[in-house]
Amino acid sequence: MDDLICLDCNHTFTDDDAIRKNIDGETWMCCPECGSTDLTDGARCKGCDEVKAEDELFDGWCKECLLDKLADYELFFEYLKDGDNRMDAVTGLEEFVFTAVWKLPEKYVPKISSFELKESLKKAYGSLMAYDRICGKSTLYEAIKDWMTDNKDPDLYDFAEWLNEREKVKK
Ligand SMILES: [Zn+2]
Ligand SMILES: [Zn+2]
Repeated sequence: MDDLICLDCNHTFTDDDAIRKNIDGETWMCCPECGSTDLTDGARCKGCDEVKAEDELFDGWCKECLLDKLADYELFFEYLKDGDNRMDAVTGLEEFVFTAVWKLPEKYVPKISSFELKESLKKAYGSLMAYDRICGKSTLYEAIKDWMTDNKDPDLYDFAEWLNEREKVKK
């Protein structure tokens, strides 16, 4: 049972529910709502379980769900820390604080980090987290969202892959 989405009216349905029409001697699957043959494969988002067009999903997650996940500051911090194992010498935390929070050009991101630097960056992240919570703001979230959706690396796809890896390890 595959999920399908109609590109004309956005209706989602299974291929059992699709209407079959014979057009020019060929059988076409059509949308049961509007009769369109302009259909695309859908898949269920791992987060909200809604059917989305397959090419709109990031490793199984829809954009809305990933943006929700990014609002979890502890989770995102974990993602940055894991950058240690996934990127070269510079970690996700350095890059994030220097470029996304302090808005410094990429060239200022240190090529080599130290224990002291890392500790102070952790504190900087912690202060932003505390500030948002106390003042009811979403300064950190805005920085995270911008950084993750600016089409540079890392991106939502990378984050989604990381989430899936993490789920696997947990099981
Ligand atoms: Zn339709
Ligand atoms: Zn979703």
